[in-house]
Amino acid sequence: MAGLSLKHIYKVYTGRKTTKKHPIKFVVNKIRKKEEQKPAVEKRSGDFVAVKDFNMEIEDGEFIVFVGPSGCGKSTTIRMIAGLEDISGGELLIDGVLVNDVAPKDRDIAMVFQSYALYPHMTAQQNIEFALKLRRIPVEKKDKDGNPVLAIDKKKIKEIKEKIKTVEYDLEDTEDEENIKLLTERKVKLEQDLKYYSETPVQAYSYRRMSKEEISAKVQWAAKILGIEELLDNKPAEMSGGQRQRIALGRAMVRGPKVFLLDEPLSNLDAKLRASMRQEIVKLHNELKTTFIYVTHDQVEAMTMGTRIVVMKLGVVQQIDTPTNLYDYPDNKFVAGFIGTPQMNFTDVTIKKAGKKLEITFANGQTVAYSLDSLRTIDGAYLDGQPHEVTLGIRGEHITAGAEKVEGGIETTLSVKEVLGGTTQLFVKLTEDGPDYIVSVPARTNFESGDRIYISFKEQNIHLFDKQTEMSIMSRETGNKN
Ligand code: ATP
Repeated sequence: MAGLSLKHIYKVYTGRKTTKKHPIKFVVNKIRKKEEQKPAVEKRSGDFVAVKDFNMEIEDGEFIVFVGPSGCGKSTTIRMIAGLEDISGGELLIDGVLVNDVAPKDRDIAMVFQSYALYPHMTAQQNIEFALKLRRIPVEKKDKDGNPVLAIDKKKIKEIKEKIKTVEYDLEDTEDEENIKLLTERKVKLEQDLKYYSETPVQAYSYRRMSKEEISAKVQWAAKILGIEELLDNKPAEMSGGQRQRIALGRAMVRGPKVFLLDEPLSNLDAKLRASMRQEIVKLHNELKTTFIYVTHDQVEAMTMGTRIVVMKLGVVQQIDTPTNLYDYPDNKFVAGFIGTPQMNFTDVTIKKAGKKLEITFANGQTVAYSLDSLRTIDGAYLDGQPHEVTLGIRGEHITAGAEKVEGGIETTLSVKEVLGGTTQLFVKLTEDGPDYIVSVPARTNFESGDRIYISFKEQNIHLFDKQTEMSIMSRETGNKN
């Protein structure tokens, strides 16, 4: 079990293989500087920034989901955590220990992929136990009186010397002052470590393989939790997708990792199996109580599994929050539209403060006044009595519809009605050639296409976004001071 810290993590693909002569840190610092100078401008050169300034503290035992559309950088981030991808800039700490330069096998992390990555010629049992058979367990060396054997750690010294060489190469190529400062500090720290390990004998270790009994006990433990005891003699070709994914999970479990990384593990399964495997993974997390990081492009998966969700777009974290907070209080229009089915309705409106009310003028020219006391708190800059063009967001279930004109009702025309069984979706238009807005009503209705319908919004569920920046202009509290 472990907590993780991601501090200013960047991933830059340079289009050329990174070499010691072309330190990628240098590129990252350049990008950072350009961003600081021109925050609003996306500067592109030959380098492609796949992940930009990712910051997050993950508590031990959390179930974190990275979600976002294809290409947003979620797989790249999880691969950097696994050590399968170099970190171009920033720091990754596991349990407080910096692991940027630690090899994947030494990070105590297990990864489960969409493709299962099972060996086809091995049985389920052989697949699960494969890594255990190769594992070498360190055992503290003791003398015949039971006292610890101390020795100079030559392996560690070699590792540190290599790191110093890399830092020296980077220093040669860098003219950036900040980079020189960081690298020099790192070199000093490494030289201190080198001195310590060269002079100080430390606990010596011997290594042993796991016994057959130990391996078998671990496989049986995982097989029981996953309900795959009957499948252990089967080869992957004889199993369904869901069964194969359970084997892949078992293989990860027996390693007893500090962190589980799951990259779209259910994408190859049909919808029904996905839903049941989703629950199984959540149960597994509850049982193991280990930190899980799960990547998906499916917002339903994210909402139902994560204790916290990271929404990403174009390499940039948009919001990190609990599922309900993301749904109720999206920080921007992208998050508002990405989370929730059907998608939140958006409409361009003009808002204007008039006394204790907010007047909202819709595309059909109609103005509705809402009490500022019942709306969430709005940024004061928009409440100066002047008209402001903003985007209004409202979810389908926060709209009511009726045939009669009511106070605050907005006049629309029904274009299409979809009866889903438990609910009915009404697609209504504010203007003849305008877009459709979806209204979800719980019961069946007698409305027909072409009918005039008056829709009303639940005031506390209205979202307002700046038209240019697309950021929410509302806070989480309700009520506006005059
Ligand atoms: P998907 O759901 O499609 O896997 P993702 O959010 O996981 O998407 P990533 O795989 O992390 O996205 O990729 C992020 C961006 O980095 C993409 O634009 C991708 O094209 C780019 N990218 C990924 N790997 C490389 C690479 N080796 N070289 C150059 N660009 C890359």
